[in-house]
Amino acid sequence: MVEEDVREQIAFTSAYAKNYQQPMLVVSRERLRRNAQRFMAALPRVRPHFAVKANPDTEILSIFHEQGTCFEVASIAEIDAMLKLGASMETVFYSNPIKSPVSIKHAAANGIVWYCVDTPEEVEKIAAIKPDAKLYLRIKVSNEGSSWPLAGKFGASPKGVDAVIEICKKLDMQLSGVTFHVGSQCTNVNNWVEGIRAAKAIFTQLSAQGFSPELLNLGGGYPLQFSGQEPSIEDIAAVINPELDLLPDSIQVMAEPGRYLVGSAGCLISQVVGIATRDDDRWVYLDTGFYGGLMELSQNFPGTLVSQRTGEAGVWTMAGPTCDSIDVMGRHRLPVNTKAEDIIFMPNLGAYCTTCACDFNGFPAPSMRMVD
Ligand SMILES: *Cc1c(COP(=O)(O)O)cnc(C)c1O
Repeated sequence: MVEEDVREQIAFTSAYAKNYQQPMLVVSRERLRRNAQRFMAALPRVRPHFAVKANPDTEILSIFHEQGTCFEVASIAEIDAMLKLGASMETVFYSNPIKSPVSIKHAAANGIVWYCVDTPEEVEKIAAIKPDAKLYLRIKVSNEGSSWPLAGKFGASPKGVDAVIEICKKLDMQLSGVTFHVGSQCTNVNNWVEGIRAAKAIFTQLSAQGFSPELLNLGGGYPLQFSGQEPSIEDIAAVINPELDLLPDSIQVMAEPGRYLVGSAGCLISQVVGIATRDDDRWVYLDTGFYGGLMELSQNFPGTLVSQRTGEAGVWTMAGPTCDSIDVMGRHRLPVNTKAEDIIFMPNLGAYCTTCACDFNGFPAPSMRMVD
């Protein structure tokens, strides 16, 4: 399955490997549609809100919009992208737990209703600008088994939950939902179960305190298939759908998939700029790296590399083209006879690649091409 998927991604990309100029992310429209449809079919009770940060490209947003996907934003620029898209702003969720006052004003002026909070300070800030906002509380859940944990920065602890409830009561703010994020590329289905159960307990607490809970936001984290051992969206659905069935109909359930919707739609083409032998290590330097969209690979994130050159594979230390020592992306298998100017395909990079890239040190960030 994984091999077939990789072959398919290389197939829609390979035309761009001819007359190679510079790194390029090739994104398949058909795959974007397929991913959105598959997510919705697996989780019929869950309304998907694409996490715009995963890939804010205008055409990608409009394809998801056509598919009936809603959106989740974190900044003024992402709010503006929603206005340009013509999204109905009451379905746009402002999920960044810490928002500047000016961005809250911008959101409020443009019709955003729902705002994430995880601290009393954020409730106070929103109350002063948009007293009729609907708030959803981000709680801390386990991020164990996620390739890119997010629980270190955000999420209220049980004590923090009490503090947010207290201030909402005091300021007469509507605390109407609960959210969590299990960490990105999460392969541990239990994290969602734990989050859903914790949210249910908070709904009971909220109702007892006179609030009217109406939203459960399951966040993001749905993984791509790198090894084939990752749970598929259907595997995740098989575990969480029964949990969701236990919720009253008055609770709207949504999720914020980013990587899942766009990741497997994009394949990066890159080129080897040089190889080097340093003592016992063989190094391969690509024309793109940490600064050029491969930041995640530097953190032991799973990745797939397929060279156009065939032959016996060996282990290489992979690095980007810049003069910075942070620009190293771990060990990977490539043919032992790899040489400068070999073309390398990297499937599953539709998310968090181009949007995280810059042209540091004069090396161009990958451009993006859409294909059918
Ligand atoms: C980044 C993010 C997402 C998307 O996460 P993925 O792992 O790409 O699915 C969803 N919600 C919030 C609040 C985020 O910050």
